[in-house]
Amino acid sequence: MQHPNARSIEGRVALVTGAASGIGAATAVRLLENGAKVIATDVTRPDVAAYAGATSPFADNCLALDMDVTRKLQVAEAIALGAAHFGGLDILVNNAGIKAACAIESDRFDDIWDSSLAVMLTGPKNCFRAALPFLRRSDCARVVNISSIEGLEASKGAAPYSAAKAGLIGLTRSLAVEFGTEGITVNCICPGPIETPMTSDVADEHRRKYLDRYTALHRAGQPEEIADMILNICLPSSAFMTGSIVVVDGGLIARST
Ligand code: NAD
Repeated sequence: MQHPNARSIEGRVALVTGAASGIGAATAVRLLENGAKVIATDVTRPDVAAYAGATSPFADNCLALDMDVTRKLQVAEAIALGAAHFGGLDILVNNAGIKAACAIESDRFDDIWDSSLAVMLTGPKNCFRAALPFLRRSDCARVVNISSIEGLEASKGAAPYSAAKAGLIGLTRSLAVEFGTEGITVNCICPGPIETPMTSDVADEHRRKYLDRYTALHRAGQPEEIADMILNICLPSSAFMTGSIVVVDGGLIARST
């Protein structure tokens, strides 16, 4: 057994949702690089060969599975399969997400609302419920939910996204309180603008103006910078941290002018 203050996740088993792209892929790689066994899941199983560098030496430590977080049965089967493959589950990273901006008067609003909540709020709930029996058997159970600064503040025309991400903050706090005495920590990260496929359709000129105007660092974050925070939270030495909402946004929320 590791020392409770260990700063290593060597040998821990982690499941990452939305691991085919962006923050999820960077997280799978970072956890593998740090000695974890990773169940990498996405709607269509991630191509782990794309985890450049990390896959060849660590291939035996990575299992890729199809897992749509909105499909309860598939979630339960994939989590059970992954846990059986690696002999347990210590870490759940609820990262899967979709773009969900839509004006409230639009005919498409209700559909986008439903899919946003299904993927980014019901999805993490589905994954947590399926993972719980395995997390209970871990001596270092960690759940990290990926919300957004949009869960704390709001942009016009993004109600479905903001509502789902704010709901995920509520779910984080609620699960942290409910499972604290069992030693399962549940925390949430609120990233600011991160360079991933989700944000790649923003025109360069518009992106530059936005980053200069709103962030303290005048730049977007890289997916690896969120993966590093996820790793920190998953360390055994982060045991006293639960129910926390961690903003990683290049100073966007801090900046008033
Ligand atoms: P991304 O589009 O690169 O990756 C999202 C992944 O989630 C994709 O691989 C996609 O297939 C997967 N996914 C979508 N629906 C799914 C489902 N039903 N089941 C399983 N997987 C599903 O985006 P990203 O920027 O890496 O986003 C990751 C998370 O970070 C999301 O929750 C997003 O809301 C959040 N986030 C991103 C930013 C940003 O600026 N990129 C900012 C704040 C929060």
